Amino acid sequence: MERKGRELIKGDVKQIIEMLNKALSDEWLAYYQYWIGSKVVAGQMRGQVVAELTEHAGDELRHAGMITDRILQLGGTPVLKPEDWYKLTNCGYDAPEDPAVKPVVKQNIKGEQCAITVYKKLSESLKDKDSISFYMVMEILKDEIEHEDDLMNLLDDMQE
Ligand code: FE
Ligand code: FE
Ligand code: MG
Repeated sequence: MERKGRELIKGDVKQIIEMLNKALSDEWLAYYQYWIGSKVVAGQMRGQVVAELTEHAGDELRHAGMITDRILQLGGTPVLKPEDWYKLTNCGYDAPEDPAVKPVVKQNIKGEQCAITVYKKLSESLKDKDSISFYMVMEILKDEIEHEDDLMNLLDDMQE
């Protein structure tokens, strides 16, 4: 049977799935960057930084889940191989090679700023094509803005 939900799509479904798979790859890399960062980070205010990075890692993993569920609803295949994350990513991956708190927090701010740009653009291209994915992206965008804000506030506290 045809799925009624898919009739609502006004754009090229394949192209929408491709864009969502790119965002999915970003989320996994963001998840790992936060998660490994929370393990290796050292220095001033460590406990607070670990708590924030761990919370954000959980949010990125949740975003990956939301995007995956939507790709499946659209009849697509979510990225199946981690090696493809690097091929599809918009924002890349910054390894926390310097585990000091400031560089780690700054790397993650850079990642959030890239995510905000990507989701803003994605929301614009989804607006008239797929309103369900559009609302999902807006929800994610709201979290990324909060992430950037939280990290900026942490950095401000450290400068004192
Ligand atoms: Fe995210
Ligand atoms: Fe984020
Ligand atoms: Mg937070």
